Amino acid sequence: MRVHTCYFCSGPVYPGHGMMFVRNDAKEFRFCRSKCHANFKMKRNPRKVRWTKAFRKATGKEMTIDSTLQFAARRHVPTRYNRELLSTTIKAMKRIEEIRDKRQKAFFKKRMTGKKEQQLMEDALVVDRDEGRMKEKKEKTEKKEEKKEEEEKEKTKIPVLLRKKQRAVQRMEMD
Ligand SMILES: [Zn+2]
Repeated sequence: MRVHTCYFCSGPVYPGHGMMFVRNDAKEFRFCRSKCHANFKMKRNPRKVRWTKAFRKATGKEMTIDSTLQFAARRHVPTRYNRELLSTTIKAMKRIEEIRDKRQKAFFKKRMTGKKEQQLMEDALVVDRDEGRMKEKKEKTEKKEEKKEEEEKEKTKIPVLLRKKQRAVQRMEMD
């Protein structure tokens, strides 16, 4: 059993997952999930699809050209089993993971610095642009409210009239 890499996204393909396509020249293409397979069937180039590792490598994004990734690269040098070597390797793996996590966080922080200020600036621009529109809206709503008040006054007038009419009718009946 081996963990293969996905042809499209370069992610791990664990045993029992994804699917394999064998071209009629016997070249194997392994895919980690249907998303990658579907993209392959659409004849997309993984180097041009932004979420793949191939794209990030091709465009020189961070965490693709990194010294920590060299450890994971396979080498064509067979090693004999050695208990000590194994234990140090496991230790090293943990340490590398730690370093990678730290770097990832640092890169994220770097990418996000100044983002808040930028967003605030953009929001301020939007507010400036829309202030005129907001004023118009306010005037409109004020007008509407005035109209409503007038209508309500009329409504209150009507019952008075009705009462007068009723009284007149009653008087007629009395007579
Ligand atoms: Zn994949």
